[in-house]
Amino acid sequence: MLSNTLPRLLMTVLVTLQLVGCASTAQRDGVVLELSADGRRLDVSYRFARATTAMVFARNPDDSRSAHWRTASADFEIVREDGKEWVRRVDGGRFSTAELIVPAAYRPLPKDYAAFSPFSDGGLLIHSGRFQVCPVGARKDGEDCEGPWSMRIRVPTDVHILLSGNRYERSADWLDTSDGTKIYLGSAQPAADSSFIQVVDPGLPLEISGPMSESLPKIMAYFEQKLPPLVRRPMLYASYDPDYAHGYGHQGGTLPDQIFMHFYGSVWRETDATGGTAEDILWFFAHEASHLFQHGVSGTRDASWIHEGSAEAFAYLALESLGLVPTAYLDERRRRSVEACREALGKGPLAEAADRGEFSGYYDCGLLMFLAVDNAIRTRSGERQDLSSFWSALIAGNASDEPWTSPKFLSYATPWVGKDLTQTLLTLVTDKHDDPGELLAGLESR
Ligand SMILES: [Zn+2]
Repeated sequence: MLSNTLPRLLMTVLVTLQLVGCASTAQRDGVVLELSADGRRLDVSYRFARATTAMVFARNPDDSRSAHWRTASADFEIVREDGKEWVRRVDGGRFSTAELIVPAAYRPLPKDYAAFSPFSDGGLLIHSGRFQVCPVGARKDGEDCEGPWSMRIRVPTDVHILLSGNRYERSADWLDTSDGTKIYLGSAQPAADSSFIQVVDPGLPLEISGPMSESLPKIMAYFEQKLPPLVRRPMLYASYDPDYAHGYGHQGGTLPDQIFMHFYGSVWRETDATGGTAEDILWFFAHEASHLFQHGVSGTRDASWIHEGSAEAFAYLALESLGLVPTAYLDERRRRSVEACREALGKGPLAEAADRGEFSGYYDCGLLMFLAVDNAIRTRSGERQDLSSFWSALIAGNASDEPWTSPKFLSYATPWVGKDLTQTLLTLVTDKHDDPGELLAGLESR
């Protein structure tokens, strides 16, 4: 085993030196990710400008690194302590380089992006944020681990890299910041139209990929017409891992200029298992696409109904306006949201849903709230304005990029929708309701 590992280790160390050589003037800490020839492993090497006693990961959703990642040398260990994952020398000594061996397998992470989304043809989407670390001093604290991080990725010659809308051979360098980015490693050629660049897994069944390729450009065009344009063409990734052995499902999200969906489990190959899912996927895509077009306007954590609820409402309005799903589907979504929102409000104020660990209330109640907002704006403006006009005004006025609190947001909305509605919405957010059904029925009738 050692004989297999050594030549590769020497290689990664060389690569690291090259990277630091390039950036020697800045003396920045560097991370190098190297994809193995079989595409199933990333060799990750860290190098620090100053020796450290430990390095701590920036994102710590669970302990799966210490369970599944390995150190290249037995002199190091990955441990979970104080709710964070750390790498340190077993003897407690200082170090300025560390190498880790990371299996490139899909593993859902609680409230974080999956590190790897494999494609059925061997391609791979990776999340850079999973590899962000900070060196810490002798007094281990690991607080405020913020970038930017100098990162480099290297791939075998039969694989190319898609990063920030550009294509690279062999290697690519970037400065990783905040939540990181998704990077595609594989041999697929992206398809592009005027509004986005996409890599859709060729192994996805037609029942899923067909409606996607037909409808996604229409959804993007809808938002382009309704809301201020995006600065860069976004990337869309739809990956499919039929070999995933621990169940099935799909998961996705957005990062700046990126939308991604990952399907896992062999069940997606069976036609009847995908029945009814095409609409859900279009809804999901419309929701995520609207996040891009929200241009960063959002609510604080307890006011997540602002960005999640509006994304739900934008999805509803886009699919309705484009006629991409049956009306019965939209009615059913709305009916389910009324039910779920009533249940969420029955447990306490919406503002406290995040603390209760019931985030879905922001989506369900938020959909109803923003549909009422849309309705009010259209009625008051004689159909000349709608939710997107209101949101465009928010974008224009959101120079500070501060997340909105519920009271501030609703007071901003008052001239658009009237005091009655904003009062109702504020009550819905801040109060405990013994009979939320009545409140919601009032909202629906607007
Ligand atoms: Zn969302």
